[in-house]
Amino acid sequence: MHTFEFERATNSTAAVATAAQAKTAQQGADVRFVAGGTTLLDLMKLNVETPARVVDINRLPLDRIEPTPDGGLKIGATVRNSDLANHPTVQRDYAVLSQAILSGASAQLRNMATTAGNLLQRTRCVYFRDTAMPCNKREPGTGCAAITGANRMLAILGTSEHCIATNPSDMCVAMAALEATIHVQGPTGTRVIPIGEFHLLPGSTPDRETVLEPGDLVTHVTLPPPVAGSNQVYLKLRDRASYEFALASAAVVITVAGGKVTRARIALGGVGTKPWRSPEAEAVLVGQVVDQANFRKAAEAALRDAKPQSENGFKIELAKRCLTHALQMATA
Ligand SMILES: Cc1cc2nc3c(=O)[nH]c(=O)nc-3n(C[C@H](O)[C@H](O)[C@H](O)COP(=O)(O)OP(=O)(O)OC[C@H]3O[C@@H](n4cnc5c(N)ncnc54)[C@H](O)[C@@H]3O)c2cc1C
Ligand code: SF4
Repeated sequence: MHTFEFERATNSTAAVATAAQAKTAQQGADVRFVAGGTTLLDLMKLNVETPARVVDINRLPLDRIEPTPDGGLKIGATVRNSDLANHPTVQRDYAVLSQAILSGASAQLRNMATTAGNLLQRTRCVYFRDTAMPCNKREPGTGCAAITGANRMLAILGTSEHCIATNPSDMCVAMAALEATIHVQGPTGTRVIPIGEFHLLPGSTPDRETVLEPGDLVTHVTLPPPVAGSNQVYLKLRDRASYEFALASAAVVITVAGGKVTRARIALGGVGTKPWRSPEAEAVLVGQVVDQANFRKAAEAALRDAKPQSENGFKIELAKRCLTHALQMATA
């Protein structure tokens, strides 16, 4: 691993000022915050990330889960994934989030991993993690080894000719269905970003993954008040039962009255270049009778624009079945 300066932040304004000196907050950033370290340190050992300065944010007072005045929930950036998944309010009111987090990684990793770190985790594309291979995300302009290579795990929605990497997060899929908001403190003040606008599609700049700029510190995430009477399910399909990323997953937050769907929020994981909210599936469901045929129609709508690569065409049907089954589970 290369050498770097390490410092512990004791107040967020100073941490932001240090990080604001970076040339970019995206791939190749020369200043990085570190929280749990479970993404960043791996990538530093592989020389995929080579920051000159690493700012430890674990001593900042960002580790609380609190109610918001409007009845929602505020989740600090350094709240550990295990504490969030096991919080009684999350288990009761935002069950899809608890289920999604607990389906990811391992207990040890979840004890270290944080809310903001999970939001900003990087793709598991094998070529991104191998500096001997071409990769537009790691080194813009070098090409994409995955398009003609090992792409079984990679994306079918939101891809471009420059990058087909999957966003690997489970937590973010649940947060997309819950319509979370990301709160950022930057060098010029604070701002709020709906989760749907936080991650970027790869387009011709796959090295840019989020809207963050140099100095931006994610301080917390808020969830809106829980939707009364909603049922929530996170279903994750993968090659083995634990310690594995999703091939396809579905987060469902659905409300039913009189046998008909009155509200639906749907997001997919394992198939998109970003956590994939599906307004198409939601529109198909609302007002319809709760039955298998309508669930399948919603799944068809969600995958209508899917573009398979050489090895991952199976994901289209897998994702449809995943969403159909998640809808059945949520309305049973
Ligand atoms: C073996 C393994 C299996 C895994 N399996 C899964 C899985 O099945 N599902 C899943 O969803 N995830 C999985 N993960 C990923 C894991 O969830 C992430 O590594 C973790 O959530 C990252 O959190 P962290 O706090 O450790 O981040 P760090 O490594 O500390 O940081 C990650 C990135 O976020 C930035 N960052 C951190 N905090 C802030 C902040 N407050 N503001 C701005 N930038 C910030 C850092 O600079 C860095 O770029 C797995 C990881 C491993 C190693
Ligand atoms: S899919 Fe993206 S991350 Fe993977 S090799 Fe291609 S450009 Fe790199």
